[in-house]
Amino acid sequence: MATDCSNLHVNSERLRADFDALSEIGATVGGGVSRLALSNEDLEARSWFADRIEEANLRVKDDEVGNLSGLLSADDPDAKTLMIGSHLDTVPNGGRYDGAIGVLAALECLRRIKETGIKPRYHLEAIDFTDEEGTWKSLFGSSGIVGKISANDISDNLHDNMAFRAALYRAGIMLPELQNARRDPASILGFLELHIEQGKTLHEQQFDIGIVDRIVGRTTYNVVFYGEAAHAGTTTADERHDALQGAAAFIIAAHKRVAEEFPEGVTNCGHVSVTPDSFNVVPAEASLRIEFRHPDTDSLKDMEARLIQLAQDCAGTYRLRVATERVMHRGAERMSGYLARQIENACRAEGIRCTPIASYSGHNAQIMNQMVPAGMIFLPSVDGISHNPREFTDWRHVEIGANVLLRTILQLTV
Ligand SMILES: [Zn+2]
Repeated sequence: MATDCSNLHVNSERLRADFDALSEIGATVGGGVSRLALSNEDLEARSWFADRIEEANLRVKDDEVGNLSGLLSADDPDAKTLMIGSHLDTVPNGGRYDGAIGVLAALECLRRIKETGIKPRYHLEAIDFTDEEGTWKSLFGSSGIVGKISANDISDNLHDNMAFRAALYRAGIMLPELQNARRDPASILGFLELHIEQGKTLHEQQFDIGIVDRIVGRTTYNVVFYGEAAHAGTTTADERHDALQGAAAFIIAAHKRVAEEFPEGVTNCGHVSVTPDSFNVVPAEASLRIEFRHPDTDSLKDMEARLIQLAQDCAGTYRLRVATERVMHRGAERMSGYLARQIENACRAEGIRCTPIASYSGHNAQIMNQMVPAGMIFLPSVDGISHNPREFTDWRHVEIGANVLLRTILQLTV
């Protein structure tokens, strides 16, 4: 390193003050926050963030999908940019740490570097991505940067998107310009994201930091079992074509199969509807939505084949027909090994306990990773609670994570 910054640390009190102030925007009674993407609260948080950027004498920048950034420029205008950030939006009555901590830590790192007079060789950008949580369209902002959002995505072809378009318009985001948010991959050095784990591993195993090596892929299906409506009293058991029995057997068997054959995978069925939905009629139709996740793309494909076969087997057992429709698929991502090693070196220099870890939730880093090397630092979530006002991370871990982030940035750019 040209400048001695081997012992530079973030200003933890200043970061804490930012965290407390931001937590007030959209605060809910139970200690949580509601800052749904593009809501008044989200727009207020973004304007608060822009003020903090200006206050730190950094440059404010926004793009065509509404991502909001603070920039610290390198002397060379043609230098690449290291992007660092996460999201300020939340789920309804979510926690205070999810997303927010990554944006605030990124800003604090830039502030600290600027006030120390260090001159990085690359531009640094602290970014808040639009709608990570999917109030309208999950991972909207990062998808825009990698060139996967255009006005067509907000048309009414599949869904009624009128309210979404109105929300974008109100936030000053113009449909015909969405695709201009795409960045040239050659202009970006990489992407770093600090985030809470939202699971129990780090907390239970007492690690200070997790270095994300993989982010799960996810596939979602609509599965409909077709039987035949019949009198609930007069139809004998072996005459029935009970769609709900087939669906129920499938749900139980799917969980069992995933546990036995895909120990790194998970599945969930959170929606079932029955027709004709009457207590004295044998169900004619049972439709359910099932999702499954795995941190390895090939295993995710295997899971898909095995679960679809299972739906057919269950339909056969109960003398039903079954229709399956793949609704959504996002492949698993293997994160940059180079950035993971840089983060590990930073952890070592800070003298803290770290471990490689897979992420079972989606993040902007998995979208950015499709275009440029991306790395992710996880902080322990107490008891793994997230998307809940009780979400909590020990401030000591926030400080450690922010310092690891700062050190990683310095290793990469100074
Ligand atoms: Zn998040």
